[in-house]
Amino acid sequence: MSAVVLNGTELSKKIKGELTKDVATLKTKGISPGLAVIIVDGDAASRVYVDFKKKDCAEIGIESFEFNLPCDVSENYLLELVERLNADSKVHGILCQLPLPKHICEDNIINAISTEKDVDCFHPFNVGLLVTGHPKFQPCTPAGVMELIRFTGIDVSGKECVVVGRSNIVGKPMALLLLAQNGTVTVCHSRTRDLAAVCRRADILVAAVGKADMITADMVKEGAIVIDVGVSRLADGSLCGDVKFDEVSNVASAITRVTGGVGPMTRAILMKNTVLAAGCQIGDGFK
Ligand code: NDP
Repeated sequence: MSAVVLNGTELSKKIKGELTKDVATLKTKGISPGLAVIIVDGDAASRVYVDFKKKDCAEIGIESFEFNLPCDVSENYLLELVERLNADSKVHGILCQLPLPKHICEDNIINAISTEKDVDCFHPFNVGLLVTGHPKFQPCTPAGVMELIRFTGIDVSGKECVVVGRSNIVGKPMALLLLAQNGTVTVCHSRTRDLAAVCRRADILVAAVGKADMITADMVKEGAIVIDVGVSRLADGSLCGDVKFDEVSNVASAITRVTGGVGPMTRAILMKNTVLAAGCQIGDGFK
């Protein structure tokens, strides 16, 4: 293996260390940051993600409020809960763990969250700010990826960047953040023709699909930075990324693993957004 492994766990610890100090400062000013997490009919994976987020909050000094709702909860109940949390001064960030059961319209819930408390950066208003280059919050997973890229010391400007996946949560905002740093960005999806050829152009390759081991060494340019966002659960219960790590790590210059790569960084940015949302209560503008 020749690639440097980008350690998201270590990097996230640094970010969380800085946030711990920020939270302590906020508390001296009478503000105790709080994050509300809504989980509906959480499967094992969602449960694990929520538990990690609660642990991060506790580590940093953020108060977390969990709302565990049954699978048959009505959309109206959920909307009322979001309204209550919007009005609650102890809550600075609200996130609703996705996916939601089919009878609930995810867009309706996301759109109901106050744009000031939308720490996932999913609300169309905040997405609009991101598109126009003036984001209030950073989209968590893509911003975590940008921190990992920054850690390599490589300047994104002018680089060929390929993002595989075009979801609203990962692929599209990822492309926007790379573009904001003057990358030349190509976004691939399920209809992309000759995916391998497009990927081989990339100086920076971000895979966000959710198909185990789909990015193989022959799809990667020598010396590329390869970031693996994808997470798939294999039959034996283990987690696997989109990138075939064992072979791609012989071609790439830097690479992330699943796990310990993008996941902890996503959560660190969520914490950062929560602290930012709480800090916005101070007139002189915290951060
Ligand atoms: P989605 O299912 O919403 O999007 C997947 C994307 O992959 C779609 O745009 C789809 O294209 C594209 N795609 C599917 N098959 C192919 C293919 N054969 N070739 C090229 N593109 C393809 O997933 P998300 O964006 O929400 O998540 C992506 C992955 O990242 C998942 O594994 C998820 O678990 C993981 N994830 C990890 C996080 C972390 O913190 N580590 C956070 C968030 C997500 P099309 O649009 O045409 O259907």
